[in-house]
Amino acid sequence: MNDYVARVICNLQRQYPYEPEYLQAVQLWLELIGPAADDPQYEKLDLITRMVEPERLFAFPVSWVDDQGQVHTNHGYRVQFSSAIGPYKGGLRFHPGVNPSVVKFLGFEQTYKNALTGLPIGGAAGGADFDPHGKSSREIMRFCHNFMRALYRYIGADTDVPAGDIGVGAREIGYLYGEYKRLTGRAESSALTGKGLTYGGSQVRLEAAGFGTVYFLARMLECSGDSLEGKTIAASGFGNMTCGVCRKAAELGAKVVTLSGPDGYVYDPDGVCTEEKFQFLTGLRAGGQDKVEPYAQKFGAQFFPGRKPWEVPVDIAVPCATQNEVDVADAAKLLTNGTKYYIEASNMPSTPEAIRLMRMHPGLKMSLSRASGSGGVVLSALEMAQNSIRDNWTQEEMERRLQATMVKIYDQSAQAAAQYGLGDDLVAGSAIASFQKIAQAKLAQGV
Ligand code: GLU
Repeated sequence: MNDYVARVICNLQRQYPYEPEYLQAVQLWLELIGPAADDPQYEKLDLITRMVEPERLFAFPVSWVDDQGQVHTNHGYRVQFSSAIGPYKGGLRFHPGVNPSVVKFLGFEQTYKNALTGLPIGGAAGGADFDPHGKSSREIMRFCHNFMRALYRYIGADTDVPAGDIGVGAREIGYLYGEYKRLTGRAESSALTGKGLTYGGSQVRLEAAGFGTVYFLARMLECSGDSLEGKTIAASGFGNMTCGVCRKAAELGAKVVTLSGPDGYVYDPDGVCTEEKFQFLTGLRAGGQDKVEPYAQKFGAQFFPGRKPWEVPVDIAVPCATQNEVDVADAAKLLTNGTKYYIEASNMPSTPEAIRLMRMHPGLKMSLSRASGSGGVVLSALEMAQNSIRDNWTQEEMERRLQATMVKIYDQSAQAAAQYGLGDDLVAGSAIASFQKIAQAKLAQGV
């Protein structure tokens, strides 16, 4: 890391001492781009600062009325991180843990993830510290409407295009889009993605994030002279992303043997690979209890309360739940058990220390979420493309385009690693490829 980059980090630490998630993400990324940032003109143009700070951040209160007539106030945010290569684009998260640090970290990650897709989308993130668990549909609707009242003037098809994330699915996007349409008087379908199929949404939406990760993984295995056939996979979570991983892995001959929730993890040696199991997971998630134990009871699998799935010996680990769920101790267990591939699906599930430890291990091939976790946003960009030509693509067409883009993301990351003599270090390769893309756009557009 050169002096200029080290100074950028110090300045950020001084400016944002209470934003650990954001600082952590930026610091790790700067470490990874290493040699690619070593160009004297970058210091002259202060390019690195301009690439790691958001262009704009909105914070707004969202008051709403519950079913008993009580008024509550939550905190809403939207970070418009980078418009260097297209309109701001990224999810909305409704979760009690949302705060300025989390949305800035998500916006930062989204910017570099989106750049790597090769599609013309900038980066953004947002959400609120609203907890949808235990709320009625009417309460969720009122919250979404009021959230959109605060946000609608700052978004739009060519400005900023929100989508879902944790706690925001098709139902919430429907309410948000309905209110946007009412407020603006425009049926501007690509102002939001993740819409329902009847009003501009796309096929493969629910499975896209999980499918994308497995397509990426399949390409990685192919390029390593290996295949998915007969492999065992430990996955975390039990929502759409995890379910998508289970489905696509099963289709390609591998089996997912673990699922997890805040209550613990399930070990199912037969694999989560039948339609009955997929349907059960969908019902479990919709039930809103946030517990995975009922799966173990239903299918006679083992349940380990309060523990994480990373202790199970498998060929491949795919974290699909939330940030920092894999710490150094978990990473050490994966390495001791001889895991060969570590592929992130959700946003930044591993702590920086866990990443540093795993990267030192030559026997492990790994990829961070900005590369292998981009299935969701790739599908969003396809939804925008479909909306702009007033068309509806078929399931096969969407899957074909999603797969082709995931393969491209892998290849670009591998090429960037090779270009800097980093062997098959895909973690650094994907950081460098996305850095180069945005740096070029910023240089071309001037200060
Ligand atoms: N939150 C999702 C992601 O992490 C979706 C972003 C989008 O589709 O805009 O990529």
